Amino acid sequence: LSERLQKAFSGLRRKGKVSEDDVRTAMREIRLALLEADVNFGVVKDFIKTVREQALGAEVLDSLTPAQQIIKIVNDELTKTMGEAAVPLNKSPHIPTIIMMVGLQGAGKTTTVGKLSNYLKENEKARPLLIAADIYRPAAVDQLKTIGEQLSVPVFDMGVDTDPVEIVRQGLAQAALQHNDYVIIDTAGRLQIDEKLMTELANIKELAHPDEILLVVDSMTGQAATEVAQGFNDRLDITGVVLTKLDGDTRGGAALSIRQVTGKPIKFIGQGEKMDALDVFYPDRMANRILGMGDMLTLIDKAQKNYDQKQAAEVAEKMRTNTFDFNDFLDQMDQVAGMGNFEDIIKMIPGMANNPALKNFQMNPKDIDHMKAIVYSMTAKEREDPDLLNPSRRRRIAAGSGRPIVEVNRMIKQFNQSKKMMTQMYKGNFSGMEGMMGN
Ligand code: GDP
Ligand code: MG
Repeated sequence: LSERLQKAFSGLRRKGKVSEDDVRTAMREIRLALLEADVNFGVVKDFIKTVREQALGAEVLDSLTPAQQIIKIVNDELTKTMGEAAVPLNKSPHIPTIIMMVGLQGAGKTTTVGKLSNYLKENEKARPLLIAADIYRPAAVDQLKTIGEQLSVPVFDMGVDTDPVEIVRQGLAQAALQHNDYVIIDTAGRLQIDEKLMTELANIKELAHPDEILLVVDSMTGQAATEVAQGFNDRLDITGVVLTKLDGDTRGGAALSIRQVTGKPIKFIGQGEKMDALDVFYPDRMANRILGMGDMLTLIDKAQKNYDQKQAAEVAEKMRTNTFDFNDFLDQMDQVAGMGNFEDIIKMIPGMANNPALKNFQMNPKDIDHMKAIVYSMTAKEREDPDLLNPSRRRRIAAGSGRPIVEVNRMIKQFNQSKKMMTQMYKGNFSGMEGMMGN
C-alpha cells in the first residue's frame, strides 16, 4: 500500500492548492490501496467520496506538498471514521460487570476471555470469574480451564452436558456469592453464522443482561469480517469489537469496515497468542497502519505544528504593532469555524479557562457566516484600515451584505473591542476583557 501511494504522489508538483488533478490521481490509488487492505467495497466508496470533497481546494500548508496534504486529509478522515478516541469498557454501577464474548469459531474468543481477565487483573486489580459456556467441543472447556489456571483466575464450568443458558445462570449465582467484580462468559462459535447459535446467544443475553457484548473478529478474514460483524450486530446488538490476529501482516482494513457498518467501537486488538497480547484500540494508530505511512505522517504532523506556530507568531506581531485588521479577522473566523466549538477554543488560551466573563459565552456558526458576509462587502482599503468606516460606508456595506445596519455597527464595535482586548492580552493585561465578552 505504502509503495503504491508513494508512487501515486511522486508525480505531483508543489503548488498552493490541491487541484482536481491531484485529487483524481490520488483517489484512484487510495481506492485500490484500501481495497487491498481488505476494506469493504461499499465502505471504500463512501470513504473516498468524503475525502474527495475535503481534499478539493484544500489549502496546502507551506511546508507540505499537495501529495502530503492529501495524505494528511486521508489519515485524519480514517481516524475520524474509526472513532477518534479509544473507547473504554462499559461498566456496571454495581458488581459484577458482565462481559459476553461472541464470534465465529476460531476467531479468538476463548483466548480473548483469558487476555481480558489478565488485563483487568493487571490494570484494575479485578477479581473476574470466567464462565465456560461453549459445550460443543469438550476441548473448549479444557482450554478455558487451562487458561484460568495459568492466570490464577477461577473458571466456572459444568462440563458439556448442561444447557449453556443454565451454565450461565449458575455461574452468575456463584459470582454473586464470591463477590466477583467481573464475569466474562465464553460462548460457542460456528464456522458461519447460523440460526441455532444465534438463538442460543440471544437466550444467554436475555438471561445475563451483559454490560458488554464483545464481538471477536479475526482480522485475517478480510472482506468476510464485515458481513460477520453485521450479522452478529443485527441479531445481538453488540456493544463493542475485539479485532484479533493483528500480529501478522494484515493491514487492519477490517477495523474501518466494521466500525463503518456496525457503528460500534473497536475496543481492543489482539496481537499474539500470549495472554498479555491484548491492547487498547487507538483509531489514529490503526489509521497509520492501514495507510502504512508512519514516517510520512510524523513528518506531516511536525510541519503542521510549525505552521501553526508561525501563524500564532504572526498574529502576536500584529497585536504588538496594533495592525490587526479585517483580513486577519476573517482568517481567524475561518479558523474558528474549522475548529468547531468556539467556547472550547477560547478556553485554551492561557488565563481564559476560568474567566467568569466566559460563562454562557457562545458563538453561533450562522453569526460567523453573517460576519464574514459583512467583511466581504468591504473594500480592500476598508479591511486594512477600519478607521475609514464612516456612516455612509457602513450603509453601503449593509446593503451589499444584506445585513441590517445595526448588525454592521455591532460587528465593527466588536472588532474594535477584540482588537483592544488582544492588544491588552499581548501586553499581559487581562483586566480589559470583561466588557468585551459581555457584549
Ligand atoms: P475461539 O474458537 O473463538 O474460542 O478461538 P480461540 O481463542 O480458541 O483461538 C483460535 C486460535 O487463534 C488459537 O490458536 C489462538 O491461539 C489463536 N489466536 C487468538 N487470538 C490471536 C491473536 O491475537 N494473534 C494470534 N497470532 N493468534 C491468536
Ligand atoms: Mg473458544
